[in-house]
Amino acid sequence: MITVSSLSKEFNHTEVLKNIDLQVNASEIVVLLGPSGSGKSTLLRCLNGLEELSGGRFEVNGIGVDAAAPRRTRTAAYREIRKHTGMVFQQFNLYPHKTALGNVIESLLTVKKMPREQAVPVGRELLKRVGLAEKEDAYPSRLSGGQQQRVAIARALAMDPAVMLFDEPTSALDPELVGEVLGVMRGLARDGMTMLVVTHEMKFAREVADKIVFMADGAIVEEAAPDVFFEQP
Ligand code: ADP
Ligand code: ADP
Repeated sequence: MITVSSLSKEFNHTEVLKNIDLQVNASEIVVLLGPSGSGKSTLLRCLNGLEELSGGRFEVNGIGVDAAAPRRTRTAAYREIRKHTGMVFQQFNLYPHKTALGNVIESLLTVKKMPREQAVPVGRELLKRVGLAEKEDAYPSRLSGGQQQRVAIARALAMDPAVMLFDEPTSALDPELVGEVLGVMRGLARDGMTMLVVTHEMKFAREVADKIVFMADGAIVEEAAPDVFFEQP
């Protein structure tokens, strides 16, 4: 589903991703661990076209992006990839002037050009899936951080993505709200969603991941099944 080959990324002549090779198969949950600044977020952002890669190539859901290709070829590929990829950030990034339901159906209306009467039932179903059926009319400011993040997940799911990318989705939450977001992510994993997750939640990583990828200083230094990874001295 995701194949990364010799990917590198420079910021101001400093290489922050070095020769990254990574594979995420369909329905796999891969958790990226590593110290702050090791390049986890940049890797996710490259896959979604939020950052340009400096070298190498990758493929998401059969759509290839190559650093050596002309920029407009890559731009077209990123556009396609975003249609098949849901991304959830540390900050929830909801539209403050739209209700929960409005946030969830926004991309259905604007990207998929779905008529509103068709989008609303889809949006309601997605809110139900993240446990927020009764909050459809609430504005983000009236929702807890955990609820806002669940709306953000429902919004990402609205495009019916083949892959979900999570960049520290619980790091901005009060501890008591982390569980409700991880619960939704566990549900997605059970449903067979392909997921690449950056998180500091070790219990989630240990229990849900099929594979742990450990990064340090812009490189992948270890890849192992969670039982092997967490058994080490
Ligand atoms: P992580 O997600 O593992 O904490 P990041 O991917 O955020 O790491 O950062 C990797 C490195 O890239 C860090 O040294 C960071 O300072 C640098 N970096 C990230 N984004 C930018 C940017 N827009 N411009 C310059 N340097 C950046
Ligand atoms: P109150 O309970 O204070 O009367 P409501 O929640 O009923 O306020 O909201 C009344 C109207 O105000 C809503 O229909 C909406 O248009 C607007 N509104 C409420 N909350 C927000 C918000 N966070 N951002 C923007 N508009 C809002």
